[in-house]
Amino acid sequence: MNTSRSKRLFNEAQDFIPGGVNSPVRAFKAVGGDPLFIKSASGAYMIDEDDNQYIELINSWGPMILGHGNQVIEEAVAEAIKTSLSFGAPTGLEVEMAQTICELVPSIDKVRMVNSGTEATMSAIRLARGFTGRDKIIKFEGCYHGHGDSFLIAAGSGAITLGTPDSPGVTEGVAKDTITLPFNNLEKVEEVIAAHTDQIAAIIIEPVAGNMGCVLPAEGYLKGLRQLCDQAGIVLIFDEVMTGFRLSLGGAQELYGVMPDLTTLGKIIGGGMPVGAYGGKKELMDYVSPQGPVYQAGTLSGNPVAMSSGLAMLKQLKADPEIYVKLSDMSAYLEKGFQKNLDELGLNYTMNKVGSMISLFFTDNKVVDFESAKTTNTDLFGRYFREMLNRGVYLAPSQYETLFISTAITRELADEIIRANRASLIAIH
Ligand SMILES: *Cc1c(COP(=O)(O)O)cnc(C)c1O
Repeated sequence: MNTSRSKRLFNEAQDFIPGGVNSPVRAFKAVGGDPLFIKSASGAYMIDEDDNQYIELINSWGPMILGHGNQVIEEAVAEAIKTSLSFGAPTGLEVEMAQTICELVPSIDKVRMVNSGTEATMSAIRLARGFTGRDKIIKFEGCYHGHGDSFLIAAGSGAITLGTPDSPGVTEGVAKDTITLPFNNLEKVEEVIAAHTDQIAAIIIEPVAGNMGCVLPAEGYLKGLRQLCDQAGIVLIFDEVMTGFRLSLGGAQELYGVMPDLTTLGKIIGGGMPVGAYGGKKELMDYVSPQGPVYQAGTLSGNPVAMSSGLAMLKQLKADPEIYVKLSDMSAYLEKGFQKNLDELGLNYTMNKVGSMISLFFTDNKVVDFESAKTTNTDLFGRYFREMLNRGVYLAPSQYETLFISTAITRELADEIIRANRASLIAIH
């Protein structure tokens, strides 16, 4: 495979961009090798600068759930551009977007648009803190909520001890207000709430974790969190930046039937444009400025081009709810194919799947939290990733990601992916 243009661009990029990329995981550090620079994409395929073509299972980390080059979205964007790229004043598109989100996501009465998932989660915890008058938040190991200071906190040594900064530049002051607990463990949450009476403003969680690979909530876990929050007056935040409009039209909350107080959204909601949102119960959202005292703003928030793109995405998903059945069926087909390969090769690796999120973990252990996710052999994953890439299948360049399946994946492509999986597994063992 010739990747000389990508290599040259990466060399140049490193002189002008930290690490040569605008978001760390793109640098391929977790899998080795140099990143590919992408020139274009269409349907299920991405084409790099050297004209290599790949079936891709990242979909821009989720947003391109309808595949690349979706005509309805592209036409909506082209139309919007004619009216100006930005006004910084209210538009009808924003009203339509808000109505659509409130209609589709069961727990959202009111919603505020922002420009990224990070912005959504940062704003949601500020709101929870402002509303409750409390400072501390609980988050879970292995969940990712963007790069806000409050989330870049590692777990302390004991369950009840407070966190420590996970990145230089995050202050001890911020770290002391974030408590990081293991995923899928209700007792630890109960213990911490009891030890910090009237101090916990919010619990934030990926209802299905997608950022330590795909990890499902245990039976009753989300309901249990809901109950604990109700008892202690804590705001429950579901970070559905990944799961929103992916696991169902109403996200993980609809799938599992557990309603959070606040929901954060991103990725699919922008149809490929930089968009995020946070929304929830009316009494909470009315606490946001200018209606309420909690400040939050954005020069380009609700941008008409981004709203047009996102609306065109949501309308298509809403018009054809069968999309979710098809996505889930195709994912099940892939999972079955991978499982058959594993069985035939005498490998006992773990797969987790829900809807169109699947992870293959290179470990024999069940993966139910970050501790067990970390038992995966990341070197082996790195080799698997490169073998798949050499066979024309582009996976997310980290073991701690899921496959993102789009509607552009046909049976024929799925068969090709399954064959590549088999050949790659053989090559690395
Ligand atoms: C991607 C992601 C974010 C961050 O969104 P950005 O748009 O990258 O800031 C937050 N939470 C979850 C669950 C995500 O998957």
